[in-house]
Amino acid sequence: MLPFARVTIIGLGLIGSSIARAVRETMPTVRLTGHDASAEVREIARRLDLLDDVTDTAGAAVTDAELVILCVPVGAMGAVAAEIAADLPAEAIVSDVGSSKESVAKALREALPGAIVVPAHPVAGTEQSGPEAGFASLFHGRWCIVTPLADGDAAAAARVGEFWRRLGSNVETMAPDHHDRVLAITSHLPHLIAYTIVGTANDLAEVTESEVIKFSAGGFRDFTRIAASDPTMWRDVFLTNKEAVLEMLQRFSEDLSQLQRAIRWGDGDTLFEHFTQTRAIRRSIVDQGQDDAAADFGRKHD
Ligand code: NAP
Repeated sequence: MLPFARVTIIGLGLIGSSIARAVRETMPTVRLTGHDASAEVREIARRLDLLDDVTDTAGAAVTDAELVILCVPVGAMGAVAAEIAADLPAEAIVSDVGSSKESVAKALREALPGAIVVPAHPVAGTEQSGPEAGFASLFHGRWCIVTPLADGDAAAAARVGEFWRRLGSNVETMAPDHHDRVLAITSHLPHLIAYTIVGTANDLAEVTESEVIKFSAGGFRDFTRIAASDPTMWRDVFLTNKEAVLEMLQRFSEDLSQLQRAIRWGDGDTLFEHFTQTRAIRRSIVDQGQDDAAADFGRKHD
């Protein structure tokens, strides 16, 4: 039996439109309703025929929903939840896909007192945005972390988990604050580093812009992909997962200083040992099916 018969998606960008496409593919009998604040995005969603119905207000999208998934930037979650509060059926489950979880859990709980709330985060995405960037297989083999509230409804969390399994995800459950610490090191800090490196290279007066682009395959290019990620989304992630990111940044700075010292003193053993350990981490990510084993991320070289 399907976990939900009527699903509403608010925010029809990369993630929202990918969920719509994946539901169409894996659970074609589910009735899909959607809304986006942008009239242009609503028009594109209608033209692409992503959902059964696209409404002009958030309230109208939720009136008979069994599951409502908020797919808007993290900083907009509370405002969107407040917009749907009056029209939300009492038995509906409200979930989201936000990249940080404690702040979203708090915002949803405050805006929707008494509602059934099950926050979640599909750890899958690209550096693209908008409804045309979405695709049905985005969640295949990727993890979705369900972060139920401490006093939340366990049966509702199980239904949300089952929904993500149907979309092809592996599902893990953890507390919202634990999620935020894990993602701070695996996703948020790497993005911050990429944003920094790309900015620094751009600022270096003695290296011209054409040299940066010409020799980018030396490592820089892979950072530019991450640093092209959506500015609104990432601004909100750093504003809402501040404590965990600052803690991981502190640890990172200490480790960086250690490598800096090894380079200064010509300590090749320390460098070699460190790089050997990190290479093993890359191998285990590939072994667990979370990336491609092909050299240079499978890029063609002719
Ligand atoms: P996106 O492509 O920019 O889509 C977000 C959509 O939400 C946009 O169409 C935006 O419209 C709309 N929106 C903004 N405020 C709204 C509001 N108040 N009411 C209704 N719609 C509103 O972003 P995304 O990449 O799908 O990200 C959505 C969420 O997924 C974020 O919370 C993000 O943290 C999470 N997430 C992203 C990734 C990723 O890799 N991208 C991965 C996992 C989770 P406008 O463009 O007009 O503002």
